[in-house]
Order: sequence, then C-alpha cells, then structure tokens
Amino acid sequence: MQTPDRSHLLRELKNHLLFLKDAGYSEIPCESELFAHPVSTSPVKIMEARKKSSLSQVQEELGDCTRCKLSQGRKTIVFGSGNPKADLVFVGEGPGADEDEQGLPFVGRAGKKLTEIIEKGMNLNREKDTYICNIVKCRPPGNRDPEKEEIEACNPFLVQQLKAIQPKVVVALGKPAASTLLGRNVAITKERGTWHDYEGFKLMLTFHPAYLLRAYTIENRKAVHSDMKMVLEALGR
Ligand code: SF4
Repeated sequence: MQTPDRSHLLRELKNHLLFLKDAGYSEIPCESELFAHPVSTSPVKIMEARKKSSLSQVQEELGDCTRCKLSQGRKTIVFGSGNPKADLVFVGEGPGADEDEQGLPFVGRAGKKLTEIIEKGMNLNREKDTYICNIVKCRPPGNRDPEKEEIEACNPFLVQQLKAIQPKVVVALGKPAASTLLGRNVAITKERGTWHDYEGFKLMLTFHPAYLLRAYTIENRKAVHSDMKMVLEALGR
C-alpha cells in the first residue's frame, strides 16, 4: 500500500482546519465532539449543534450557583427559556415569586402580558421565535431591585447566554435591565424606542410589561407597539 507523502498530509490537514474554521470552530474540537458532529454533517448543522451545546454548557457552568447572596433565598435558578437559536432575546430584571416557584422566566402576570406582546402584537411564537432571560437568575427577596454585586456576579452568564444564542436583536425590558446592560442610569421613558449596542448585539429599550400593567394607558401601549415594530423591522419581518 502506498503511504501518502508529507505534503499531501499537510494539504489534507490544512483543508480540514479550514473546514472547521468555516464551521464556526475557533479551537480544535475534542474527539467526542467530532464523533458527535461527523465531518459529513453540513457546517450549518455543526454550528447549530454547537450553539445548542454552548447554551447548555453555560447552564452547566452556572451549576447550583452560590456566587451571590441571592442564592440563599431562591427556590430555583431561573436560567431562561425559549429557542436557543432565537433571533430575538428579551432580557428582564430578575425572577419574581411565580418564576422562582416554576423555574421559568416571565410566567406571572407580567409574563402573560409579555406573551401577549410577542404573540398578538408581533405575531411571533414565544417558544419558537424568542428566548427570554433575566439580568439575575435568582429572585431578589421581596422583589427588590438586584444589587450591584449580584448583577456583577450574574452578568457573565447573561453575556455567555447571548454569545451562545447569537440573536439579531436583544430587547431590554424596563429601566433596571436597560441600565444594567448599558452600564449607566437609563431614563426609560425618554430612551425607550432607541437602538444601542450591547456586546456587539443590537439592543432595543422598551417598557417592562409589569410597568405596562401598572400604567395601562393608550400612550404606553402605543409606545411598546412602536418599539416592537422597530424590532420586527430589524429582524426583517
Ligand atoms: S443571581 Fe446569578 S450569580 Fe447570584 S446566585 Fe443566582 S445564578 Fe448565581
């Protein structure tokens, strides 16, 4: 049997590395990962599989987190829910009592309002078209605002989540989420409906659905409607 020469092997190796680069790999995957996504799989499928595993890797890394004192009063960590490949991610402030109980974000009254905005207002499907998460993943006691150290402890996981999902648009729901993502005090009534950049993602600011429930005026509803219209345009819908 003829042994392939060195230059042939190097050429093959170079081609394989270029293929992996095109498929979205920034490092050489381990053997088990290659077996999980054999080279005959299309690059798009490999990238999709990596996105999925990346989000579950972030959750795995978060583990039974005790990185801040919010861990002491929580029942469950509310990591996030929805499509791990969604083009649209909503980011709220933190879980409330219902979310803490069920381990899912936005499931209480405000959650129902958010679902209504997504499904009736935007004509999207909450589970299929969006991913929803929060600035902090554990319920602040008495629904107080999360503190600086708590936000700082949890923020790297939010950034990793977004990097795993790679959405086209991120929407910050309400002042605390907007202020945290932009690292400054945001006057949400003045700044809602404006585009920003967060870690390279297009960021839209809008009212929190809980605020909308409290101040259910035509003006506020029109404002959210107009913000979501801009989001749909950015998504090409
Ligand atoms: S809020 Fe975030 S950092 Fe703090 S304990 Fe929960 S998961 Fe960990």
